[in-house]
Amino acid sequence: MPEVIVVGGGPTGLLLAGDLAAAGVRVTVLERRREESNLTRAFVVHARTLEQLDARGLADRLLATGTRVDRFRLFGTVSVDLAPLPSRYPFMLVTPQYEVERTLAERALAAGATVLRGADVQGVRQETDHVDVSYRDPEGALRSVRAAYVVGTDGHHSTVRRALGLDFPGRSVVRSLMLADVRMTDPPAEQLTVDGKESGFCFVVPFGDGWYRVIARDRRRELPDDAPVALAEIAAVARHVFGTDFGMHDPRWMSRFHSDERQVQRYRVGRAFLAGDAAHVHSPAGGMGMNTGLQDAANLGWKLAAAVHGHDHPGTDRLLDSYHDERHPVGRMVLRMSGGLLQMALLRSGAARAVRNVVMPALLGVPAIGRQVRLRQSGIGIRYGRPPGAHPLVGTRASDVAADDGMRLYEALRAGGFVLVAPPEVLLPAPGVAIHGVTGQGLWKLVRPDGYVAWAGYSADGPNGLHAALGRWGADVVAPAHQRVRDRAGATSVPSNSRRSFQ
Ligand SMILES: Cc1cc2nc3c(=O)[nH]c(=O)nc-3n(C[C@H](O)[C@H](O)[C@H](O)COP(=O)(O)OP(=O)(O)OC[C@H]3O[C@@H](n4cnc5c(N)ncnc54)[C@H](O)[C@@H]3O)c2cc1C
Repeated sequence: MPEVIVVGGGPTGLLLAGDLAAAGVRVTVLERRREESNLTRAFVVHARTLEQLDARGLADRLLATGTRVDRFRLFGTVSVDLAPLPSRYPFMLVTPQYEVERTLAERALAAGATVLRGADVQGVRQETDHVDVSYRDPEGALRSVRAAYVVGTDGHHSTVRRALGLDFPGRSVVRSLMLADVRMTDPPAEQLTVDGKESGFCFVVPFGDGWYRVIARDRRRELPDDAPVALAEIAAVARHVFGTDFGMHDPRWMSRFHSDERQVQRYRVGRAFLAGDAAHVHSPAGGMGMNTGLQDAANLGWKLAAAVHGHDHPGTDRLLDSYHDERHPVGRMVLRMSGGLLQMALLRSGAARAVRNVVMPALLGVPAIGRQVRLRQSGIGIRYGRPPGAHPLVGTRASDVAADDGMRLYEALRAGGFVLVAPPEVLLPAPGVAIHGVTGQGLWKLVRPDGYVAWAGYSADGPNGLHAALGRWGADVVAPAHQRVRDRAGATSVPSNSRRSFQ
């Protein structure tokens, strides 16, 4: 019997399933699609997501599939330079969504997750100590599976969200966006090109393998999503906006869609959770949807694993609630940011566009504003709340540091547990916490499995000390899977020599 059921094997569900399986949790993914998709919606992977993949040993593999974009131009006048990002990955990776899914699916399967394809979830019922999920199997038979927790990562039209009786408040923000993947005989010089005129908007980015993604909108032709798309329609918008259609030809995929901005009010209802597009949707402007879903999963995975392994731990409920408390505000910020970018791209009046084209470069030229925009869009600047009296670093993303033996923090995080960044002479504070020894590092930092600072300070004792923080976070039940011993009754214990495996 699985301990966690993940409904939906898109990027969010696959990352989550991999994290749970790597932490020794029995996890089953129920996915409606029978085959892997080779079509792509998302194509931009931002710096913080690449850091999260680095913490799982997957970044290099994904980097090999795409093109790095470290500078781009918006609306003809606004130049955005990502090089100053304080990250190992100061760029956006342009790669098809199916490459992300493939990478995550392979890792989830290798870690021991079960993925059932052709399993169409029909409903979810919660009891005090379990959930029952019903689904139709590939032959159409109705089946039911029981687990301790369920996570709905089943996208915009989430069945899990509906089964929980949750609304998805928001609105449609743009209709009749056209999408095509094409070849070009005369492609743009810029890596990423986007502009809008009075009746149209167009965006072009190369995948790096000879294919280009074009997104276009003709304000005068608002058609339903199922109206066919002709390449000539998209080329005409490009000519109107850029003065050229770049010789686009041979489309391999064309589609028409509309975009909503919606967010569910609760990410957790008892034993059920929502993540990714099931919890929040917005337009593709800013390329943040998949990135936000992947980071939801990274936030939830270790907390859920802790709940499964230490189900009677007094802090479990609070830890699970912290998923909503931390990720809901991030989802709201992303909706606002993406909505703002979309409005700017769709400005109709020439005067408003002229103001935009003057004001935006001026604003982004102010170092503090340019920095904030870069930090937010890349995800590097995302931070979570901190308790009163905690060090200001608590809740911020832990930046990568190398230990004396050369191992980087994000490599140490690959074991799945907490990592204490402190001078090597500091003694092991708890089972399941690795010491990442950095000589001369005055401030000690306890880093959560998802790469955020859980605690920072100089002392192990006292109400704001390390031991209190370890108790608060239940760090002792978040031990990596290879340090976890499961006895015959299913109870788990963590051997106390866990320090050794990190040295
Ligand atoms: C044109 C376009 C461009 C985009 N570009 C970007 C970008 O550059 N960067 C970015 O970050 N985001 C981008 N996005 C958004 C991104 O595609 C989504 O945010 C992302 O796919 C969400 O991932 P997910 O795993 O949460 O949901 P999904 O990818 O929607 O996956 C949900 C899965 O659940 C399955 N499912 C649904 N219902 C059931 C059920 N009842 N039972 C079982 N399985 C079920 C589905 O088959 C699917 O596999 C773009 C979107 C569009 C439309």
